[in-house]
Amino acid sequence: MLGSLLLAISRSPLARRTVSGFPVTRHVVDRFVAGEDAGDALSAVRRLTDARLSVTLDHLGEETTDARAASGTVKAYVAMLDALRPLGLGERAEVSVKLSAVGQRLDHAMALDHAREICAAARDAGTTVTLDMEDHTTVDSTLSILRALREDFPATGVAVQAYLLRSEGDLRDLAYEGSRVRLVKGAYAEPASVAHQKKSEVDKAFVRCLRILMEGKGYPMVATHDDRLISITELLADRHGRDRDSFEYQMLYGIRTDKQEALAVAGSAVRVYVPYGDDWYGYFMRRLAERPANVAFFLRSLRSK
Ligand code: FAD
Repeated sequence: MLGSLLLAISRSPLARRTVSGFPVTRHVVDRFVAGEDAGDALSAVRRLTDARLSVTLDHLGEETTDARAASGTVKAYVAMLDALRPLGLGERAEVSVKLSAVGQRLDHAMALDHAREICAAARDAGTTVTLDMEDHTTVDSTLSILRALREDFPATGVAVQAYLLRSEGDLRDLAYEGSRVRLVKGAYAEPASVAHQKKSEVDKAFVRCLRILMEGKGYPMVATHDDRLISITELLADRHGRDRDSFEYQMLYGIRTDKQEALAVAGSAVRVYVPYGDDWYGYFMRRLAERPANVAFFLRSLRSK
């Protein structure tokens, strides 16, 4: 209930102004966001990669309907990729892109051109791009942009949401050699006509999706903080004779850092999703929606000031 309410207000401009206006909000946001500028993000990259973790950087922003803002996002990604190149981290530091931030809502062709520019900068930096998946109305467009990008940049990855009823079919198409797919539960408010609603149903769907990826020939990126799903991933990796370097775990910046480090120490590949920038509202509200305890933490911070 609370989660659905938070997801609804994550798209309200009035709520955005109100929540962003609390002086203490920044303090709570810092738990989930690496900082406002590229320098903050690069400090997080150094810290995490020193601790044997890989990273994927997300320049915060989404749902833009302004062509200048979309171009600004592309410039920010290209600048970040230029800054990553001398660090020599290669694919240990990639970027995640929301197509709605680079113009998907304005014009499909513009979003594809912008995504190509980011992929070219990533290739120059010796790394790659993963496309985030947003609400269900964007899935066909995102998968079609992915197919076009993979012609020139075959390592481009994509996120697939287990809660969508269509995802098992999409994953069968995507589980081919060289294909990088990030499996997530899904973070948006979706209707029952397109998505499982109950947590237990989403978890079961995640396992079915995971089986398709682990049996397939691609490179699964298992993005969850859920211990049970991590254990099932281990079992499936054993069953299908997958080496440690033939799949990876992914987790969000600031969430279950102990587990991130423990998996890395045990020899698994672990990538941390590192968001940075000042347009943190939508991302932050989805993190609150995932866990009521985060809302309590937020409210306590407001009271204590
Ligand atoms: P849950 O059942 O939600 O959580 C399991 C446990 O993890 C919880 O019990 C808790 O201990 C911890 N936990 C989970 N979330 C939080 C939180 N916010 N705060 C504190 N603790 C928490 N979704 C999309 O729709 N599109 C994407 O492109 C996308 N990309 C992602 C990339 C990465 C690397 C990750 C990790 C997630 C991404 N997500 C994306 C979000 C995802 O869909 C889920 O909403 C999110 O990961 C929570 O699901 P979970 O699998 O961790 O399971």
